[in-house]
Amino acid sequence: MLLKEIREEIIEYGKKAIREGLTKGTGGNLSIFDRASGLMAITPSGIDYFEITPEQIVIIDVQTGKIVEGTAVPSSEADMHRIFYKYRTDIDAIIHTHTTYAATISCLNWDLPAVHYLVAFAGVNVRCAKYATYGTIPLAKNAFEAMKDRKAVLLANHGLLAGGSSLSEAFAITEEIEFCCELYYRAKSIGDPVILPEDEMVRMIERFKNYGKRIEEHEEI
Ligand SMILES: [Zn+2]
Repeated sequence: MLLKEIREEIIEYGKKAIREGLTKGTGGNLSIFDRASGLMAITPSGIDYFEITPEQIVIIDVQTGKIVEGTAVPSSEADMHRIFYKYRTDIDAIIHTHTTYAATISCLNWDLPAVHYLVAFAGVNVRCAKYATYGTIPLAKNAFEAMKDRKAVLLANHGLLAGGSSLSEAFAITEEIEFCCELYYRAKSIGDPVILPEDEMVRMIERFKNYGKRIEEHEEI
């Protein structure tokens, strides 16, 4: 079986997404790109995350889009995953979900502004991609375009897509952006949220690159 460990990792994160309320039943889809072989592994369409077997994870050639291995039908959004692996060098894992607050903001076709510094997990803001029918090439292209220089994108009247160098990074971005969408919704419902300036967000993005390392401050307290 090709990419056995990657298939198992996808199944683990699929269950984690359900447990943590990021998706329900068969909703959403996850993939990992194995850059060495040029192959991606993606969840199958319409099978409950707690029932998916490694054999059902579908292996697709990123250059051609052809199925190489897998006993089930791939997720209908396989091309929306593949386009990022084909044209971006910094994305090796993707999670697409219909989380409640991100989907709410997407139904207004709004971008998520820098309402909280955690938006920097994805970039200086998170754009909302133009609407296109689910599972189509136009949707893949709109998502790709709107995610330029970002690691997440809202899909109009649909949901959220997040990408990172690993599934754990894509998962963290999904959680943080969903949280920020909820904050934005709540803050807007009682007032006018203050948006952080872009230079502050650029500093945050740099800080997150060094996450876990000690940052030397220039000033003494
Ligand atoms: Zn979807």
